Amino acid sequence: MAEEMRAVEPGEPAGWRRTDGAGLLRPGDAGREVVLMGWVGRRRDHGGVAFVDLRDRSGSVQVVFGEALAAEAEELKPESVVAIRGTVALRPEGTVNRDIPTGEVEVRAAAVRLLNPARTPPVYTSELPAGPGAGSTAGETVRLRYRYLDLRRPSLQRNLALRHRLVKAVRDHLDEQGFWEIETPCLTRSTPEGARDYLVPARNAPGRFYALPQSPQLFKQLLMVAGVERYFQVARCFRDEDLRADRQPEFTQIDIEMSFVEPEDVMRLTEELMAGVWKEAVGVEVATPFPVLDYDRALLVYGSDKPDLRFGLEIADLTEAAAGSAFRVLGEAGARGEVVRGLTVPGGAALYSRKDLDRLTQEVRVFGAQSLVWMAFEDSGLRSPAAKVLEETTVSALREVLGARVGDLALLVAAAPETAAAALGHLRLQVGGRLGLRGGKDLRFVWVTNYPLFEAGEGPGRLAAKHHPFTAPVAADIDLLETDPARVRARAYDLVLNGWELGGGSIRNHRRDVQERVFRAMGLGPREYTEKFGFLLEALEYGAPPHGGIALGVDRIAALMAGEESIRDVIAFPKTASATCLLTGAPAVVEPEQLEELGLIVP
Ligand code: ASP
Repeated sequence: MAEEMRAVEPGEPAGWRRTDGAGLLRPGDAGREVVLMGWVGRRRDHGGVAFVDLRDRSGSVQVVFGEALAAEAEELKPESVVAIRGTVALRPEGTVNRDIPTGEVEVRAAAVRLLNPARTPPVYTSELPAGPGAGSTAGETVRLRYRYLDLRRPSLQRNLALRHRLVKAVRDHLDEQGFWEIETPCLTRSTPEGARDYLVPARNAPGRFYALPQSPQLFKQLLMVAGVERYFQVARCFRDEDLRADRQPEFTQIDIEMSFVEPEDVMRLTEELMAGVWKEAVGVEVATPFPVLDYDRALLVYGSDKPDLRFGLEIADLTEAAAGSAFRVLGEAGARGEVVRGLTVPGGAALYSRKDLDRLTQEVRVFGAQSLVWMAFEDSGLRSPAAKVLEETTVSALREVLGARVGDLALLVAAAPETAAAALGHLRLQVGGRLGLRGGKDLRFVWVTNYPLFEAGEGPGRLAAKHHPFTAPVAADIDLLETDPARVRARAYDLVLNGWELGGGSIRNHRRDVQERVFRAMGLGPREYTEKFGFLLEALEYGAPPHGGIALGVDRIAALMAGEESIRDVIAFPKTASATCLLTGAPAVVEPEQLEELGLIVP
């Protein structure tokens, strides 16, 4: 024992074997001699006795250093790694802490070994303090630079464990359903999903490049041609986009493909998967089947193709009710080819100040709307900048469609249909937030279907695939591919949860002729599409079965399950909004010899 008593110096465990997880000790362990290994947390000194929280992955426990070991305890710097031999004891009366799982016990240390001292950590390893600057960018920069310390925070540890359970549940569930997990290449050709590719120069073929996959789309289709029938992969995807708020250049998808299916089959499988995974990973029951919403209706009623259905605040079409009003902004909208739409904020008349409304007006302008017309229905009558010009009959017609009562506020936009949808979709979310309707724990899954196959592409009259060019058109619309492609609907479905797009998929073109017609509708000529996708077109000629699938974002699902606002909190080593890794310094410059080998010249 005497040897143990010297001041702590870094050393090896020297034969000690860890017996228990610190966070797992309970009153039933009282009297047991244990060896714990972990990190030094908070220390409190009380008249010669030191209390140190010892933390490991399982949690933390209070360790008591009596007078004989007090000097050693003093040398234990926070976040140092230590081994402690001691005896579990019940905490004395009055010192029990009911807030933590180990709060009824403590470990009375008999000996301590310092396994590795730590420098003072530059970031918090316990939970972040709330308050000003807590989630600041500056703070986050340092935390990402020292991500291995940041990840010691209990909430991030919980997120990593949750993500593990989620992915495991996915694998178990799909395995039970007869799916095979198959890896597809990361060094490949471009797989268009609407983003820029990450390119990797090929050393053996100067001037040529691999592309990192934006998704395994083409390979999973080829696996269906290969007769695999049911494929999945927890797949890393790479998209070089100018990062918007919560995107990552690389992200993980649950990628699924099935043969001989209709949209309903993929949707049912996905619902069961989501219900199973939520149950397994977080013990939450999810009701199935999920409701289905038409794309057009989603835009009309919620102003978004990823509606948050935790609240109503539905958007009403007011074009007809406003028609003919002397207030020309509204009254002549229809004649201008525009629409008038609006939403009612219950109790909004007293809630929204003039300043708030000016701010909302600025916000709708960002979406291209000229202005916001607001109407407060008060006891004394209508309060609105347009009150003088709006005739009584128009006001009551609008009010009837809006279902507005005294005390309510109506927000109206007159604009082209897409602009009105975007502006009101934004207002709906703003108002939902203001009324406290967006924080609910409800899980409102919804399928959005009947998308158009194409959207406006780059250049006048050009069309681009709304999802990706391998999506099949609705059978009844196939002949519109040549005559009126903008009206062709897709056999596609997106899964939305509480305003987040969780994923999407479609039935694919399994016949070469249809796939070629889709390419042509997008303005691609045979030379171009054969050069890029000839291998797929060829495969479709060798007995490709009808097939379809879906991909679901793991990062988003994990964030929603964990109740985190940002996917960065469920990714071990995320990148910043400018796609850099602050920990490793990637992207980084390389040696001139490497460039030369690759035949690259960098300006
Ligand atoms: N490949 C598509 C995507 O990544 C999903 C799918 O169509 O299955 O969005």
